[in-house]
Amino acid sequence: MLYGKNKQGTVVHAANASKDCNYYCPLCCQKLMLKRGKCKCAHFAHHEINCTYKEESYVHYQAKYRWANL
Ligand SMILES: [Zn+2]
Repeated sequence: MLYGKNKQGTVVHAANASKDCNYYCPLCCQKLMLKRGKCKCAHFAHHEINCTYKEESYVHYQAKYRWANL
């Protein structure tokens, strides 16, 4: 996923996320891992995959987060 919530509840794009902060899934509130390497674009991943976000299409995801103005 491309967005995670920080402790203040602000939605943050993975590309703008800090490795020193914790981020949580906006849907299930699980803690997320920030993955930012050279091969893939920055994104968040669940530690445990039991969230509906993994089945969500990218288009649906973008539509859901349009309000976030990112
Ligand atoms: Zn989740």
